[in-house]
Order: sequence, then structure tokens, then C-alpha cells
Amino acid sequence: MNAAGKEIVVVKLGGAEGIDLDAVCDDVAALRAEGVKLVLVHGGSAETNRVATLLGHPPRFVTSPSGFESRFTDRATLEIFEMVYCGKVNKGLVERLQVRGVDAVGLSGLDGRLLTGRRKSSVRSLENGRVMVIHGDHTGTVERVNTRLLTLLLSDGYLPVITPPALSDEGVAINVDGDRAAAVVASALGASDLLLLSNVPGLLRAFPDESTLIARLDAAELEAGMCYAKGRMKKKLLGAGEALAGGVRRVVLGDARVSQPIRRALAGEGTVMA
Ligand code: ADP
Repeated sequence: MNAAGKEIVVVKLGGAEGIDLDAVCDDVAALRAEGVKLVLVHGGSAETNRVATLLGHPPRFVTSPSGFESRFTDRATLEIFEMVYCGKVNKGLVERLQVRGVDAVGLSGLDGRLLTGRRKSSVRSLENGRVMVIHGDHTGTVERVNTRLLTLLLSDGYLPVITPPALSDEGVAINVDGDRAAAVVASALGASDLLLLSNVPGLLRAFPDESTLIARLDAAELEAGMCYAKGRMKKKLLGAGEALAGGVRRVVLGDARVSQPIRRALAGEGTVMA
């Protein structure tokens, strides 16, 4: 239970191919009508890659020595990122919600200093077996959430739709991971559940074989679960662990390609971590 006396569910909606935005928004509208307090956080990685390539500035990914893949975000990439995340994807979701009668407010982490944290301006990248240091990165980690702003909106009946980038301590926009940002938001709001919805049914023991879904992972098993995760799925597990450590009761990795994706995740469909 949070300060407002009502349980909050934070839903992170992925940006990968195959996600059914209309099904998600139908579900949001129905659950809100039943009195569930929701906060949406979204990504936009696939669309950003497409637009960046069209604009002649294709994405560049780096792999850290510990095996985490991330987008290298120079200034030009950051601006394309903002066009897609804060523009096309965010306003697309807000419009879809408004047409269903949900008074959604789209906010980036910059607006009202909603998400602030540390910038990491250089990144270590493993390239052809050698560790290189690349400078000029606009990337970072969310450390603080303006919960006052979110509480203000929620208590007045608005539905916040949150997107990266965040704001660095120096006041510069930084690309942050959406799953981990959602985890910080869920912890800060005292949310009961964090639902990480994407284009897979959950964590798969043998990706991409969907019959190998891992239905449950204890907090203590998260580390072991990491060995099944490839690429960006690792960030989701990292975010899940951070949310549980931050007091969120349950994190569910769920499917956003199906009808009623939020309701299903709340019913425990997917990979449940508690
Ligand atoms: P989103 O942008 O929707 O948040 P991501 O693309 O970042 O989603 O992460 C989900 C992706 O993780 C899946 O589409 C899948 O390709 C990948 N993945 C890697 N390993 C696994 C795994 N073990 N189980 C499920 N998905 C995995």
C-alpha cells in the first residue's frame, strides 16, 4: 500500500516487434474503470533503430566486458531517440488511451525532473576481443523519481505514461534503460506489482522455444535465471531484482502480444518473481 492508500501497478511496455498496443490500451481502460491505479512506462528500441537507419545514422551497439549490450548514444542518436520515444511512441500511446476515455499524460524523464540520475559519458566496449573506451555517450542510470509529480497526477485521475530519456545531475538528457527505469519508478511509488511486458511469454529456459517458459523464479534464483537470458533480457532480470530489492512485492515478465496482457500478467501468467 502506498501513501495514497491504493495499490499501484507499474506496467513497462516493451518496444520490440509484435506487441499489441491496442490490446494493452483496452486492458488499461478496463482495469482503470475497475479502480486499479496504473502507471505506464514504455520503450521504443525497434522503432528507434528503424528511424535512425532511415535518417542515415544507424544504431551502434556496444557490449560491455561483463556481457551487457547497450546502445551507444551520441548527441545525434539522442535526438533521434527523443523524436521516437517522446514523440511517435509516447504520443501514439497517449492518443490510444485518450480515445478509450483514459486521461493519459505523456512525460519524459526530463519533464518536471521526473527521472534523474548519473551520466556515464564513456563506455567500455568489447570489440574483437579487446576492451575499448568510447567517449561522448549520453547514457546513464536513474537514481531518483519525482514521486510528488506522479502522486499529483494519479490523485487527480490522470494516467502517467513515462518514457526515457532521464535527466543527469548536470541537467543533460541521458538514455536510460526502460526496464530498470520502471523498476525505480515502481520502488519509489511503493507499487505492489511491476509488469514487464514484451514480445515473449516470459523468461525462456531455451530461447526462442516458448514451451520452455520458466513460470516462477524466487528472488534468490534470479542470479541463476540470468544464465538463460541473452541480450536485452538480462536487463529485464536486473530490473526485476532491483524492483524486488526496492520493496515491490511481485515482478511478472509477461506477454504483450495477446489480449488482456495486463490482466493475464496480474493473474500470474508469464514468469513470476517474488
Ligand atoms: P522490449 O524492447 O520489448 O522491452 P527486449 O527486446 O528488450 O524487449 O527484450 C525482450 C527480448 O529478449 C525478446 O524479444 C527476446 O528476443 C530476448 N531474449 C533473450 N533471451 C531470452 C530468454 N531466455 N527468454 C525470453 N526472451 C529472451
